[in-house]
Amino acid sequence: MSAIDLNAKASPDYERKLAETQQLLIHAAAEFSPLTQANSLGAEDMVITHLVNSLQLDIPVFVLETGMLHTETLELLERLKATSRAPVNVYTPVQESVVQFVGREGKDAMYRSIELRKGCCHIRKVEPLQRALQGQRAWITGLRREQSTARAEVPLIDRSEPRTKFNPLADWTWGDVWHYIAQNKVDYHPLHDQFYPSIGCAPCTRAISLGEDFRAGRWWWEDEAAKECGLHVKNTNEGVAA
Ligand code: SF4
Repeated sequence: MSAIDLNAKASPDYERKLAETQQLLIHAAAEFSPLTQANSLGAEDMVITHLVNSLQLDIPVFVLETGMLHTETLELLERLKATSRAPVNVYTPVQESVVQFVGREGKDAMYRSIELRKGCCHIRKVEPLQRALQGQRAWITGLRREQSTARAEVPLIDRSEPRTKFNPLADWTWGDVWHYIAQNKVDYHPLHDQFYPSIGCAPCTRAISLGEDFRAGRWWWEDEAAKECGLHVKNTNEGVAA
């Protein structure tokens, strides 16, 4: 059974939410320049890029290519680059940092401690994110309140950091996301059809079982409270939501 068959079910107020999301993206593009969209190639981000392209908004997209992504993710990235109207910019880690870290700690260091896992995330995600956001006035993410308890309060517009963060799908359900994908024939990550609701780097992502939490397949060996990669943790020192 595909992820569409399993999940596509619009909320009663889906049309209102969709219209609100479109208006928010139009407003963001008109009022916040330069602006960019973070796309992890998961379902939510693919929906947002599809909206950006169908509304013909001048919002470039960026992808963090950590060097640890699934083959299916890299293939989806190539398809996105080939079909997106909006430019797709790819950011990779500083190779010297990766070589030093892996040489010192080994390639499976992330399983040994939270500190080492966060160290890997810093080199492969957080530092490239900082480069991607440099000079940007605002950015767009696919965060949804439903995704985890840590995200339960996500606002549509987050002005708590110097760089404004738009979360246009904040109040969308998982069913809404898949309804949009089905209605608009959005290209999506094939691992979603294999019970991967949330997809990150290959060593740190697994499929989930029926009844498991949405993000149970991410860093599954860690406590729930530690489960953010650092991309959406407030960091007032650096002035970005990294
Ligand atoms: S998700 Fe895993 S492999 Fe990817 S950067 Fe973080 S620790 Fe490293």
